[in-house]
Amino acid sequence: MRLVIIGGGISGLSLAYFLLEQRPALDILVLESEQKAGGKIWTDKIDGFLCEWGVNGFLDNRPKTLELVSKLGLTPLRSNDNARKRFIFSNGRLNLLPESPTAFLASNLLSVRGRLRILWEPFVPKWQGGDETLAHFATRRLGREAYEKLIDPMASGIFAGDPETMSLKSCFRKVYLLEQTYGSLIRGMINLQKEAKKTGRKVGAGPGGVLTSFFDGMETVIQALTAFLGERLRTGSPVVSLDRKTTSYEIFLGDGTTLSADAVVCATPAFVTSAMVKELDRELSAVLSEISYPSISVVCLGYRREKIRQNLDGFGFLVPFREGRRILGTLWDSSIFPNRAPEGYVLLRTMLGGARKSDLALEPEDTLKGIVMDELRGIMGISAEPDIARVYTHPRGIPQYTIGHEQKTARIAELCRKYKGFHVTGNAYGGIGVNDCIENSSQLAQRILQEI
Ligand SMILES: Cc1cc2nc3c(=O)[nH]c(=O)nc-3n(C[C@H](O)[C@H](O)[C@H](O)COP(=O)(O)OP(=O)(O)OC[C@H]3O[C@@H](n4cnc5c(N)ncnc54)[C@H](O)[C@@H]3O)c2cc1C
Repeated sequence: MRLVIIGGGISGLSLAYFLLEQRPALDILVLESEQKAGGKIWTDKIDGFLCEWGVNGFLDNRPKTLELVSKLGLTPLRSNDNARKRFIFSNGRLNLLPESPTAFLASNLLSVRGRLRILWEPFVPKWQGGDETLAHFATRRLGREAYEKLIDPMASGIFAGDPETMSLKSCFRKVYLLEQTYGSLIRGMINLQKEAKKTGRKVGAGPGGVLTSFFDGMETVIQALTAFLGERLRTGSPVVSLDRKTTSYEIFLGDGTTLSADAVVCATPAFVTSAMVKELDRELSAVLSEISYPSISVVCLGYRREKIRQNLDGFGFLVPFREGRRILGTLWDSSIFPNRAPEGYVLLRTMLGGARKSDLALEPEDTLKGIVMDELRGIMGISAEPDIARVYTHPRGIPQYTIGHEQKTARIAELCRKYKGFHVTGNAYGGIGVNDCIENSSQLAQRILQEI
């Protein structure tokens, strides 16, 4: 029985790991199109700076990831405690994001009227309609100002998304369930806190957890998985298409060769899987192609510390769309984790593009660098030239869970079930983060082992 996993991002690699952990003799081959595995997880080292070209870390509140990290013999690195402070750029300055309800009431980030509107939230009736956009939900429950200044930048920070099209249910399921269960977010939070006190467990509506990575960056986990898989991972092997024979699958590679497999998992982005399965199933291919991936660029700028007057004590800042700026936000990477910049230097990592400004991310590298320097001058008062600059463009970055996403993924799962031994996985379906990918791969491994 040969199983081929197409795509060597964290989804494909961790799936192979979970399968082999339980059945070491299983005949598994992972095919990765690039010369090295990792997908959106690559770490660049430049003159002592450590630049993440995509994924910056994962939250330490989901056991599967930490379990995997520990089994691989790796030491996770929690972000610095003093990097908990997050800022929102609003009214021409960086405002500290309040960390507690009392701090929130005292904060000037929202007007008095905006804060009072939030306190009205428990009196807003529960939504009885269908799939609702994040923008509609947040405005309805918390008011326009809280939506624009708090919720909108959060959507940029996590999904680089457009709240006007994002599905609340698919993007923030916990929040959706809070309203559905308790009729109000505030009431729900109070109830969860009470439960937490009783059980001693930490609960909340947000993702919670502490941002975690590794001393040498996120690629550490990819290197460990790559070493574990050895020859079972074949890089530089793009798959073009696949088709079904009576009881097996034929996999057509870019170099003109064909492989045969009894089972296939596509752990590739949905648009890639869509192209691959065109001959296998036209409808499946069509539904997969509906999941959009706007462009996003990451601009890393390294500076000698004394060039920057701004206090970098914190995580960084996000920019609400209504501010009309050209960046989504900037992470102060060297404040978050050690080893991101040489002694005496700092590293700032800025995102541009996303669902609302996708084309901007595709501008030439020099233009993007110029835009970021311009914006950092306006927002943080940095007028100095950076000592290093790196621009990473993801022409198709983060999959967007827009209205109707749940139906799409249900239809995709239904169509896949028509083909014995055929599965799809990855961050297009059941959660966009590294933690989701690993958890979903673990569950898929169990299903595959039962099927065999
Ligand atoms: C800029 C950016 C920042 C992010 N930051 C974070 C973060 O800090 N934390 C977090 O949790 N998540 C973050 N994410 C989300 C992140 O993408 C996912 O969490 C996760 O890395 C996705 O893994 P994956 O394996 O599902 O997909 P991918 O990483 O996209 O892997 C898919 C793999 O398939 C390969 N492939 C493509 N076509 C073919 C083909 N034809 N044949 C064979 N192989 C093919 C690709 O080369 C790739 O290796 C970020 C995403 C982006 C774009």
